[in-house]
This record gives sequence, C-alpha cells and structure tokens, in this order.
Amino acid sequence: FLTKLPNRRFLEEKAPELIQSSFGADGYIVFAVDLDGFKKVNDLIGHDGGDRLLVEISRRLTEVFPDDIIARLGGDEFLVISEDRSEEDAETICNKLICRLAEPVQIGNIHAEVGASVGYARAPEHGRVLKDLVQCADVALYAAKNRGRNTFVAFTPDMNRQLAERAEIEAELRLALESGRITPHYQPLIDLQTGELRGFEALARWESDEYGHISPEVFIAMAEDIGLILELSDKLLRQACRDALDWPSDLTLAFNISPTMIVDRLLGLRLIKVLQETGFPPNRLEVELTESTLVRDLDFATTVIQDLRSAGIRVALDDFGTGYSSLSQLSKLSFDKIKIDRAFIESFESDEKQMKIVKTMVALGQGLGISTTAEGIEEASQLALLKELGCAYGQGFLFGRAVPASEAAELAARRKAPELRTTA
Ligand code: C2E
Ligand code: CA
Ligand code: CA
Repeated sequence: FLTKLPNRRFLEEKAPELIQSSFGADGYIVFAVDLDGFKKVNDLIGHDGGDRLLVEISRRLTEVFPDDIIARLGGDEFLVISEDRSEEDAETICNKLICRLAEPVQIGNIHAEVGASVGYARAPEHGRVLKDLVQCADVALYAAKNRGRNTFVAFTPDMNRQLAERAEIEAELRLALESGRITPHYQPLIDLQTGELRGFEALARWESDEYGHISPEVFIAMAEDIGLILELSDKLLRQACRDALDWPSDLTLAFNISPTMIVDRLLGLRLIKVLQETGFPPNRLEVELTESTLVRDLDFATTVIQDLRSAGIRVALDDFGTGYSSLSQLSKLSFDKIKIDRAFIESFESDEKQMKIVKTMVALGQGLGISTTAEGIEEASQLALLKELGCAYGQGFLFGRAVPASEAAELAARRKAPELRTTA
C-alpha cells in the first residue's frame, strides 16, 4: 500500500504470467536491489520519514524502469524484472539506477541519503523459472554488498561454487569447534623500557585438515555470521585461562572480544564466570575491545566495561586510531590501556604525519593515565623510536609471533621474550 508496488506474494502468484505476456520466451533480466544504510537513515528520520523515503525511492525506480515489473520484497529490498538487454545496456542502467537512488531525498528539513547495491541474473542462461533467477540475482547482490556500497554485480555460475565452498567451510568450522581444533596461541607482550616479558595475547588458530591454515579474521567473522562466536569465544577463554595458569603469576593474559558480542549486556558477567570456573585471577586478565565495539552499542559497551573493571579485569582499547570512536567516548569510558594499531607503526618512521599521530597517542595515554602498547613492531629501529617516545609496551614479530601453549609456557618459565631478531 505504501509504495503502491506489488509485494512478494504478487510476484510468486502473478509474475510468471506477466513475464510470459510482456517479455515472451526471449529472455529477461532480474535485478535485485537493496538499499545501503536505510536502517541508519530510518533511525534518524523516524518511521514516517522512512516511509516517505521509501515512496520516493519507489518513484525513482519506476522512473528508471518505466516499462518493467517492479516489486517490493521487504523493508528495503526491491526486485525489477526487465526485458532482455545487452550486457552493456544492463550495466548502463545499473549505473543510472545507483546514481539516481544515491541523490539525497528531502524529508522535512533533512536531506536523507541512502545508497543502493544491485545484483542481476539473466533468463534463460541462469535459470528458467523466476524463483531460480531471483536466487541467482540475490547471490550477485550479496557479492555486490561485499564489495562495498553503490555497486552492481552480474551473476556468474562460479558465485554458486563460492557460496557452496563457504557453506562447506562453515560446516567444517562447526566440527572444528566441537572437536576443539581451534586453539589459542600466544604472542609475547614486552615491556619496552626493560625488554622483559610482561605477558601474552591469546590469538585464535585453526589448522583445518581440509583447508589448511585459515586466518582468524576469516573464521572469526564466519563464526559471527553463523552465530557461533559466543561458544567459540567461551572455549578459547577457558583454554587460555588454563594455559596461563602454568605461567609465573605476574604474567598477564590478553584476550580479544568480538564487536558482535557486545550486544549482550551480560557479557562481562559471562567472562567473570569463566574466571571463577577456571580459577584464573581477574587481575591477570586484560580484555581487548576494538573501537568498532564501542560504536556498535555504546550503552552496552559501557555496562560491560564497568562490570569487567569492577571485577578487577583490565580493559584495553584495541586497534586504536582505526575505528570511529571519538575523544568524547574515550573520555566517558574507562580504559586501562590503548593499543596503537599496527598500521601506524608500519609507516611512522618514514611518514612524518604518522609519526606525529603516534607521538600524540602516546601522550594522550600518558595524559589520561593509561598505558600504551604498540602493535606490529617488526624492526629494531621502530622499537628504539617507541622507547624514546615513552611507549610502555609492545608486541610484534621482532619479539615473536603467536606460538602454541607449550612454547609459550617455556618462554614464560624463562621469563623472557624469544631472542630478538635484531639486525645483527
Ligand atoms: P589483533 O587483535 O589486532 O591481533 C594482532 C594481529 O596482528 C595478529 O594477527 C598478529 O599475528 C598480528 N601481528 C602481531 N605482530 C605483528 C607484526 O609484527 N607484524 C604483522 N604484520 N602482524 C603482526 P592474527 O592472529 O591473524 O589476528 C587477526 C585478528 O583476528 C586479531 O587482530 C583479532 O582482531 C582477531 N582475533 C584473533 N584471535 C581472536 C580471538 O580469539 N577472538 C576474537 N574475537 N578475535 C580474534
Ligand atoms: Ca588484539
Ligand atoms: Ca590490534
């Protein structure tokens, strides 16, 4: 009723006939269109504003596709069934649509802006029945979304293969989780001023029989997507606490928390429960939260941080400088540590601006009474500079990569970082 566009039910019931009578058997194209950033705008301009925006978007769709079948499938998802076009024409019209939808919409005195992603598939090449084509167009849309906003992607059969492969890795991930194949490894954390070992950061590792080494960035994101992250994180923390109990009692354990876990107000209490069950002292644990965690839900993040700190657990702000946290958030929340992202350390020797930023971050930490850790130290020269700037802690390949629990225990017992790979 709102947009006057037919809905999903219409599509299922009536579209096949309509397609037959409009485009015949010569083929047609199905475009799946999804708005980018609609939810955000909707939150900003309210329900009525959101409705008006959708009406305007629908009007623009009709303007770009005047002779075609357009349906609204759900909140901000649309489908266009259009006559057959050459590949070049299909690309041109996608560009036109994306540009048109990206133009601001005036709602009251707000200029609301959304973007759009498009995926499309062709009949009869990619399927003979509408249902199959919609699915192919959706697969292409998914690929477009992955590439970022305001893009379109044409379906190709290898996308199905990729999806199938992803589904296989997901299944493998479930098994690996159940059989304990994903384990924490430990990267040394060094006191830069004295060169002494201060503790380790637990980093998840997965060697799959089938696929070999898979990066934690990949499988952590996958675990988030398929709802396994809480279980995975819980297992990793339990294991890490048990491993760390073997180290001398002044060495700390740093543990990463995924941003998606912050939607749980009880997260802090859950972590504390693991400590109680494993007998690991809270004052030896340091929980690392990235800036994107704060941005996701500041209220929940505040609660979790308070819970953790009142239990004596330290909280570090990870990947500092890469997210969207503001200084005002930083001043409202209490952290014990900031970790300067590797990207800064990589270039600060040769890039004067980066150097100024690193200096300022260390000074900010000192000003707020928070210690700083520099990540990704690979060169002795970087170490020397950071020492000079007064950065308290560091980690990086110069001191060592993440190693299995048994090796970490040996390093811990000798109370030293692995041999420095200095230029000598
Ligand atoms: P992170 O927390 O920023 O972890 C540091 C990453 O930098 C690690 O990559 C580490 O191996 C790498 N690194 C350390 N020193 C150096 C260096 O000198 N040079 C270079 N080039 N890299 C260095 P890794 O292990 O691949 O982890 C990537 C990310 O995956 C982590 O970033 C963290 O966000 C996430 N992650 C890893 N383990 C876990 C986990 O148990 N739970 C959660 N939620 N996330 C995890
Ligand atoms: Ca970290
Ligand atoms: Ca980091």
